[in-house]
Amino acid sequence: MGKTRIMLSASHQSGYENDFISKALRNNELSLRGNYIGEFENNLESFLGKDKKVLVVNSGTSAIHLGLLLLGVKPGDEVICPTMTFVAAVNPILYIGALPVFVDSEEITWNLCPIALEKAILNRISKGKKPKAIIAVHSYGVPYQVDLICEIAHFYKIPILEDSAEALGSCYRGGKCGTFGDLSAISFNGNKIITSAGGGALVLNSLELKVKALSLATQSKENFPYYLHKSIGFNYRMSNINAAVGCAQLEKLEDRVNSRRSVNSFYRNLFSKIDGVLVFEVPDDNYYSNYWLTTILVDSTKGFDNQGLQYHLDIYGKPPTMNLATDFQQI
Ligand SMILES: *Cc1c(COP(=O)(O)O)cnc(C)c1O
Repeated sequence: MGKTRIMLSASHQSGYENDFISKALRNNELSLRGNYIGEFENNLESFLGKDKKVLVVNSGTSAIHLGLLLLGVKPGDEVICPTMTFVAAVNPILYIGALPVFVDSEEITWNLCPIALEKAILNRISKGKKPKAIIAVHSYGVPYQVDLICEIAHFYKIPILEDSAEALGSCYRGGKCGTFGDLSAISFNGNKIITSAGGGALVLNSLELKVKALSLATQSKENFPYYLHKSIGFNYRMSNINAAVGCAQLEKLEDRVNSRRSVNSFYRNLFSKIDGVLVFEVPDDNYYSNYWLTTILVDSTKGFDNQGLQYHLDIYGKPPTMNLATDFQQI
């Protein structure tokens, strides 16, 4: 049977990319000079609202790294993070020489479990090691239990670094993901809901913090006509060409979200006929997911497990129509 492989998360062009990149090229503004950097930041600030400030950088990972540094995380400090997430949510803890404290996920959102979170905090406090920060991730675009997680963090006075890398366009109780943390990180990597051909953003609560973050992201050069550096900085700023692509893509974010959400409906329909496969959904109307990726749970007591299903889809290009064990005998 002929099969067309559907790529997991291909990027889509909005149609503005060519114009915007050409304009940057015509002005010879390829790198850290140019209007698109500021424009992308302004557009993201307008989109997110709540008077947030945005600094665009060269990856979501660097946004998380800068976020931890701004929260004052030092070598030897402990930082809470989820067990089930992409490794880039955790690596920046190790860049600093701090220690990740892994907290398990929960069933309804697949994100940080509020009960396990509080237990972990109490456990670390009892050992005299109060965590310096909590990295909370909205996995696959499904928001974590924002109210509960924030309440716990506020109660114990631990700042949240919200990893919204996968959740641009998702909401919780009408508020936008990317606005719930003391600091928040967004990714524009090529596989995300929109891309800047590689890049990320740090979302901050004040201009003062943004100025600090900008300095860290541009080698911490002091404001003198000569090279003076009082602290260790990084080369993390986003280029004007990348920002031009980001501006072009942000124009069509809503379309991308609608499209991913219809992919989710498609799979929900498709798998509704198959016993043993559950398409993961948000728990209730408080959650609005961009469904960046659609995920499923496979009940392995129903004749096949996740790898069996994957293998079947690979061979037939469609889900099993009957018990997988029987399907395989027909190959
Ligand atoms: C993609 C991703 C990141 C890292 O973003 P990059 O732009 O690829 O560096 C961090 N956390 C999560 C949860 C991600 O999915």
